[in-house]
Amino acid sequence: MQSLERLVRALRRLPGVGPRQAERFAAYFLRAPQGEVEELLTAVEQVKDGVKLCRICHAYSESEVCARCADPDRDHSVICVVEDPQDIEAIEKTGAFNGVYHVLHGSISPMEGRGAEQVKVKELLARIESANPPIEEVILATDPDAEGETTALYLADLLRGMVARVTRIGYGVPLGGDIDYIDEMTLGYSLKGRTKI
Ligand SMILES: [Zn+2]
Repeated sequence: MQSLERLVRALRRLPGVGPRQAERFAAYFLRAPQGEVEELLTAVEQVKDGVKLCRICHAYSESEVCARCADPDRDHSVICVVEDPQDIEAIEKTGAFNGVYHVLHGSISPMEGRGAEQVKVKELLARIESANPPIEEVILATDPDAEGETTALYLADLLRGMVARVTRIGYGVPLGGDIDYIDEMTLGYSLKGRTKI
């Protein structure tokens, strides 16, 4: 059945979905009520049409400026730099941070040929340069793996002299990990225990 094979192929492109799971999902769609399938399709369509990147922090947002960047109760003089939009949710869950974010959308990896121009470094520098009031601290919360470390060191070099404090989360974060997968207690401690670099 061509249409079924096509669905299985499409599902296999989803992150973390193997061949067996793709087949199970496809079988589920075959059995599911029409309304449920339509709801999923509409949700995907709306995300594609309605979600863009915040003009300031580049997190996902349905408006030009996201709710966090527009929130006057947050500390806009502290920027926490993360690799991916999902990392924000992980940090928010810790309750240990009330500043604003900057999403790089990736990391610098000379091994894989990804330089600073492929991630939102230029945007970060422009944002810091034009910040009013000035940025007091930049927290580098890139992943604790080789690429994340490379990115943090690169940014620390660039930012020294531009902002008073450049810090790196570290304490309790396992090396080789992914911010997204670290439990909130550990991540909360690592934010509090950040060190100047
Ligand atoms: Zn924003």
